[in-house]
Amino acid sequence: MPQLHEHLMPIFEEIVRRNAGEPEFHQAAREVLESLGPVVDRPGGLVDADLIRRLCEPERQIIFRVPWVDDAGRVQVNRGFRVEFNSALGPYKGGLRFHPSVNVGIVKFLGFEQIFKNALTGLPIGGGKGGSDFDPKGKSDGEVMRFCQSFMTELYRHIGEYTDVPAGDIGVGGREIGYLFGQYKRITNRYESGVLTGKGIGWGGSLVRTESTGYGAVFFANEMLRTTGDSFDGKRVVVSGSGNVATYAIEKVHQLGGTVVAVSDSSGYVVDEKGIDLELLKEVKQVRRARINEYADERGGAAYVAGGSIWDVQADIALPAATQNELDEDGAIALIRGGVRVVSEGANMPTTPAAIRSLREAGVKFAPGKAANAGGVATSALEMQQNASRDSWSFEYTEERLEGIMRSIHDRCLETADEYGVPGDYVAGANIAGFMRVADAMLAFGVI
Ligand code: GLU
Repeated sequence: MPQLHEHLMPIFEEIVRRNAGEPEFHQAAREVLESLGPVVDRPGGLVDADLIRRLCEPERQIIFRVPWVDDAGRVQVNRGFRVEFNSALGPYKGGLRFHPSVNVGIVKFLGFEQIFKNALTGLPIGGGKGGSDFDPKGKSDGEVMRFCQSFMTELYRHIGEYTDVPAGDIGVGGREIGYLFGQYKRITNRYESGVLTGKGIGWGGSLVRTESTGYGAVFFANEMLRTTGDSFDGKRVVVSGSGNVATYAIEKVHQLGGTVVAVSDSSGYVVDEKGIDLELLKEVKQVRRARINEYADERGGAAYVAGGSIWDVQADIALPAATQNELDEDGAIALIRGGVRVVSEGANMPTTPAAIRSLREAGVKFAPGKAANAGGVATSALEMQQNASRDSWSFEYTEERLEGIMRSIHDRCLETADEYGVPGDYVAGANIAGFMRVADAMLAFGVI
């Protein structure tokens, strides 16, 4: 593990001590702190370690009981979270994750990442995250609705278009946002469109929001390829996951002339040398909410591998788009052996620190999620803009804005990496550029 700057080591030790049993948060914080050494050392720099210490403590953390009644009439109890991490640049902004693995440490890691990601977009949004250990898998629509209504019955008092603006993440898509918005509207008696993003198109949502995280991760990878005069054309691509991010990453790769030859879910992966058939994938995963093996059953020539590692599939470009720490050192070594040249994170922190080190040592271009997957939250901010002006933009215009934002994030990462003496290091570039924008605002506000 790389050494931390002498002024940052005590901050990291304090984080570990005060947030015991939260390894994902420690991991996310350490990665940012590792990048900030040159910032602290900058002669005449205004940023001191105390500001960084302040930034590592969430402004507010809310944990609440979510009781609901299942279809059999039994009372179920889940835990709800909202970590309002930093509001220096705008209202807290970040998704809600419904997944059995959710706990306060997971929400904190996601909220922490969100601060820098949102800052990188250049748009006026702070950082936050929330969710629940509720598992939507196998639940009826009625159960999901009752859960969402109960969740919002507590959450509504903490959020608002100028306060905190949740959206989706794993397990929270259009259906859940609909139930959540409906309950918020009912409790507050206000049609406050800007309180949630990822809404349906007919009731305040933005075109391209559904596609934006996946599209954005591919736009970002495309910019990385362009630095060496390359493109997606004719490339073999592996995309892990098969949820919203993966689905629309595949769509954009195919539009740009690449071929996605493998996708996965938590049960295993499929290899389809002809290129993933997106309509069939959507039918299996979105309509039927079924397992990925059904894709292989119905698609001639495709093979299903139960368990196993999707990173064993040879690829020029890899887009980890499932969940945190899914690409470990062994996976990275397998990818390197297969000749991978670019890795762009569609998910949040899907690559372990050891895997990032291996990729970097092998000369693979690596984009961290807080830069590469910022397209989702950036389009959420565009949704907020449309809501504030009671307007709605065309698909083409919104996609153009998204592509422009991804290009400018890419360029800012590279310029910042150059400026701080680590050329080509997208991780340091993203961390420093995102941090500096937040730090400037925090300095202006004084100690609050
Ligand atoms: N959950 C997404 C993310 O990780 C989007 C958040 C949002 O749109 O607010 O960035």
